[in-house]
Amino acid sequence: MGLKCFIFDLDGTIVETDYDWARIKEEIGTGGQPILSYLQQLPPPERQKKYQLLEHYEKKATERARLRKGVKDFLNFLRQKKVKIALVTNNSRGNTEILLRRFGLSFDQIITRESGLWKPSGRPIQWVMNYFQFCPEECAVVGDSLFDILAAKEAGVEKIFILAEEASYFSTFPVKVFASLAELQEFVRREYFPD
Ligand SMILES: [Mg+2]
Repeated sequence: MGLKCFIFDLDGTIVETDYDWARIKEEIGTGGQPILSYLQQLPPPERQKKYQLLEHYEKKATERARLRKGVKDFLNFLRQKKVKIALVTNNSRGNTEILLRRFGLSFDQIITRESGLWKPSGRPIQWVMNYFQFCPEECAVVGDSLFDILAAKEAGVEKIFILAEEASYFSTFPVKVFASLAELQEFVRREYFPD
């Protein structure tokens, strides 16, 4: 079965950002929970206050974000192969639009946290597959973190491609690790689109 859809993460995957999540979670006081789930369960006044703190850090990171090398080449390659490309991010719609506009990128479908579907749940990925009417075997997930892996697995996607300089961190997971998008592109070309 051919590959028909690539589902990308945004931060750390399409753009390079410098979030210090450990520090942000400590400052917000999540007690080890994922930030969005933690915020969701707070009473409204506290939720709003802490949400503003999260947005403050996101705004700073968005201003400093850089496009990851090889993004445009890889997306163009996938478009040439008639592969759908989707973006699934826990970031906000506002920041996502700023980044896509700044770097001149577009996707066939974009899911941000306003959807109420967040990684590490598989639901945002499931949503994309339902939208395009693809089964998990026809899709691949590209990300840079444990959340991407957990979400892909829960959605039943087994082609999980992780961008990381240090492959050993992910050695216990059923994923393929690549140091660059150029390496990933070469792998995808060889495995799924041999001429
Ligand atoms: Mg990421």
